[in-house]
Amino acid sequence: MALVGKQALLVYAHQSPGSFNAAAKDVAVDVLTAQGCTVTVSDLYAMKFKAAATAEDIISEGGVKRAENFSYAEETKVAWEEGKLSADITAEQHKLSAADLIIFQFPMYWFSLPAILKGWIDRVLVLGYAYSKEKRYSQGIFKEKKAMLSFTTGSQESMFSAHGINGDMNVTLWPIQNGILHYCGFQVLAPQIFWAPAHVPQEDRAAMLQAWRGRLEGLPGEAPLSFTPMDCFDGENGFQLKPEVQEKHAGEKFGLTVGTHMGLAVPPDNQMRAAI
Ligand SMILES: Cc1cc2nc3c(=O)[nH]c(=O)nc-3n(C[C@H](O)[C@H](O)[C@H](O)COP(=O)(O)OP(=O)(O)OC[C@H]3O[C@@H](n4cnc5c(N)ncnc54)[C@H](O)[C@@H]3O)c2cc1C
Repeated sequence: MALVGKQALLVYAHQSPGSFNAAAKDVAVDVLTAQGCTVTVSDLYAMKFKAAATAEDIISEGGVKRAENFSYAEETKVAWEEGKLSADITAEQHKLSAADLIIFQFPMYWFSLPAILKGWIDRVLVLGYAYSKEKRYSQGIFKEKKAMLSFTTGSQESMFSAHGINGDMNVTLWPIQNGILHYCGFQVLAPQIFWAPAHVPQEDRAAMLQAWRGRLEGLPGEAPLSFTPMDCFDGENGFQLKPEVQEKHAGEKFGLTVGTHMGLAVPPDNQMRAAI
């Protein structure tokens, strides 16, 4: 994917323009723009983006359809079809629809995303627009788009290793990269992790940003992470791996994915690096 003429959306979640996250976001804007890409930034805190998924997200004179038993997924699906989602959601959906590449830039909060960014995901990626029963995972709606998590941690890298106190980052990333991004069909690029920028010397931080610059320059040549394709699972049997797929992999040392490992060890680093 050459970047000339492409569009990138940076969904950025940090409160402070003096933060390391802000610096990482600025590097991405610089490099992608220099490569001929049109870059849009959704600065969620500056926008005061609403995090909670509520009935107010649906514009309807008569109120939501089933106020007593409100279903966010079902009612936002209908509202999306009828053009009745709130203006802030619709604006983000337009930006996302136009983008070829989406980078989420954020500090890790509680092994996951800051609430404001999770709110963007809950409210923008609604049923019908971002996924459906038929269109998900490798057959997902956004399968032509690439997405990447770019985030900072407070923890050192060793703490998130297989023998570290936090557990393996490969496993930590599975719910976000598989359960959100790949679920909606995105081709997921390996995460960009800035380990503990607040706890290293200034020159190390400068080197991290320089490495980020280099990675972004080479982004068009990067292969996405691999996930087990939808057709390996049997929709008639609770979306379990088909017996023939299980049989084929039974002799392998590692399971197929972090989520589906068939009693075998979790494949090392498959949420961290593309297969060579
Ligand atoms: C609610 C909450 C939950 C958290 N949960 C977790 C968790 O589960 N796991 C975990 O590991 N951590 C966790 N943390 C820690 C958090 O992830 C880190 O504090 C955060 O990632 C640090 O990133 P920052 O951008 O805020 O750093 P900052 O503190 O803004 O920046 C770090 C340093 O970089 C400097 N800097 C800024 N710009 C530049 C530049 N251009 N060049 C060089 N240096 C620069 C800053 O001046 C500062 O000295 C949590 C924090 C909170 C508040």
